[in-house]
Amino acid sequence: MKKSKMYLSGLFLIFSFVFIANIQSQIRNEFNLPDVMGYKVLKCDFHLHTIYSDGEVWPPLRVEEAWRQGLDVIALSDHIDENYIRNIMPENRNLPYTLAEPLAEKYGITLIKGGEISKADPPGHLNAIFLTDVESLNKKNYQDAVKAAVDQGAFVFWNHPGWKQPGFKSVWYLEQDTLYKKGWLKGIEVINGIYYDPIAHQWCIDKGLTMLADADAHLPTAYEFNLDRGEHRTMTLVLAKDYTIEAVKDALLNQRTILYYQNILIGEKKYLSPLFENSILIKNPNVTFKGRSTEYIFITNNSSMDYELESITDSDLLRFPTKLKLYAGTTTALEVRPKSRETTGERQITLVYKVKNLMILPEQFMTYELKIKGDFQPK
Ligand SMILES: [Zn+2]
Ligand SMILES: [Zn+2]
Repeated sequence: MKKSKMYLSGLFLIFSFVFIANIQSQIRNEFNLPDVMGYKVLKCDFHLHTIYSDGEVWPPLRVEEAWRQGLDVIALSDHIDENYIRNIMPENRNLPYTLAEPLAEKYGITLIKGGEISKADPPGHLNAIFLTDVESLNKKNYQDAVKAAVDQGAFVFWNHPGWKQPGFKSVWYLEQDTLYKKGWLKGIEVINGIYYDPIAHQWCIDKGLTMLADADAHLPTAYEFNLDRGEHRTMTLVLAKDYTIEAVKDALLNQRTILYYQNILIGEKKYLSPLFENSILIKNPNVTFKGRSTEYIFITNNSSMDYELESITDSDLLRFPTKLKLYAGTTTALEVRPKSRETTGERQITLVYKVKNLMILPEQFMTYELKIKGDFQPK
């Protein structure tokens, strides 16, 4: 008896040690961006699958990976239609959200209930988010399904329009037009996974639709993006008042989004311009030259975004680097030198750069004017 008691307490000690030793801290990779026009920049993904349709992931894991990858908001949007649902699954399409919600609450991730209306092309696949009841969208006819979503106050957008189209060239079908004219279609995925769709980009601009960029992950996101090789996950940056569902919805309804994929930001110039300018700080825009002395302009990039710049005009007065990479969280010393000893007095110099990873229109990039005041003095 005594011996077995000792044995048991020994066993207890071993197990408690193992238990304590196994507790680990989790790490979140922060992706810091400055506020834009008084809005916070929320990192979001509105299109994700779980084992409840054709995904490979248990719903709470989507929350965990979102937190680790620096996201603030995710929507679980499993396929609603039968042909995508495994027959091992129960009939309740609200279950993925219900299972993930407690962990989202703990991690402070804003979790949105969604579903993917998955019909044959056209209309193809449509995401409905901010749902209250996913189950009621299980309708044969696409218009009935979308109407059920709209009746719940959902935001409906067209997923991967180029998918299954010859040459991935997106086609605006009568079905899209019907939804658009009813005011039910509010946005389009311009980026799905790692694919950028210039046609969808132009449609969003022309038709006043919201641009979205989603992972549409079926596997764990670490398998779909090479995160261990420095790549990042595709996401939609939402300019919102705060982290609430209402604020996210307000931003989506008012087209306040920026797309982030493969280290490129895509969005309207009115958002990208302040995002860039609020990311960087120029310590000394006024420089004094003595003869042809080399001087430095210090530019700090306080954001988590690497910016790639290339000059598009020359300067009569200065030699300067034509290529500039402002790495995240670093200060760059921009080397400048007068071209001639003959220049004298105070002069305004504008160096015009193209920011190669800030796209404002399909294949068109933002320009940035670096303004310097040079005081040219004799040696
Ligand atoms: Zn789809
Ligand atoms: Zn999908």
